[in-house]
Amino acid sequence: MKITDIKGTVPLHNGIKMPYLGLGVFQSQNGAEVINAVSHALKIGYRSIDTASFYDNEEGVGEGIRKSDIPRPEVFVTTKVWNSDQGYDSTISAFKASLARLGLDYLDLYLIHWPVKGKYKQTWRALETLYQDGLVKSIGVSNFLRHQLDDLLQTADIKPMVNQMEFHPRLVQQGLLDYCQSNDIVYEAWSPLMQGHIFAIEDLTRIASKHGKSIAQVTLRWNLQKGVVTIPKSSKPHRIEENGGLFDFELTADDMSIIDALDQGKRIGPDPDNFDF
Ligand code: NAD
Repeated sequence: MKITDIKGTVPLHNGIKMPYLGLGVFQSQNGAEVINAVSHALKIGYRSIDTASFYDNEEGVGEGIRKSDIPRPEVFVTTKVWNSDQGYDSTISAFKASLARLGLDYLDLYLIHWPVKGKYKQTWRALETLYQDGLVKSIGVSNFLRHQLDDLLQTADIKPMVNQMEFHPRLVQQGLLDYCQSNDIVYEAWSPLMQGHIFAIEDLTRIASKHGKSIAQVTLRWNLQKGVVTIPKSSKPHRIEENGGLFDFELTADDMSIIDALDQGKRIGPDPDNFDF
């Protein structure tokens, strides 16, 4: 991945360009909080927003995009189908409801939020239909481990363009990352800052002070240098700006291996092989 600036993109396997930095909005409240976060991020150069029907803030995300005055074609909008909506017909309806809440007439990326057993193949068929009908520019999955991807690929006509996974210095899943990258599936990090828990890691403090950058910036830059798209969440303007300040320094190979070695296979979120929602 060639890293240039805040608006830089990575090509998906269908040729669509996805910004490698985006704003996550999980737990940003619908209304002023999410509207202001989204419009601020877009005004300072972010070009991608990651929401989900489950986050209950799609209306605010849409309003934030309009408030920013950035033309719609320049913004990459992702949302996700929630577990209780999975299945063919219900996914089509859920997609239309998300689009209406966002106030948009197409999406850039629609993801299956979690691999609900017995359902995700039908859900994928619906995503393929929406893609072929031109309502969404790219389709992908989230929280799919290797065996779930392989299973999906047995019946899929279209290979997912993205797999959005929990990813941070304590959970690298290098095997899955390699598998996705070698199969042209863009790997995207959720909770890249471990929901705020990375700040106590000493090695990161050391690398950050060496570069005169913050721990968040070093961690997010490590995502990009590993070829991983990242969507840190904040609703605070100064943090949104800080998390976008990744393009005036570079981690060395040594820095990269020190951060890689922090991996403990430790999840802060649910296990895709064992969730009950
Ligand atoms: P995150 O790792 O991005 O951490 C967010 C928290 O870190 C913030 O609430 C804030 O407290 C803190 N923070 C952010 N920037 C900071 C900074 N510069 N300095 C200090 N503290 C800072 O956590 P997340 O929100 O869980 O993940 C990011 C996004 O990933 C979400 O908003 C959502 O869009 C997506 N996500 C997807 C899934 C999924 O299942 N697909 C699951 C969780 C999150």
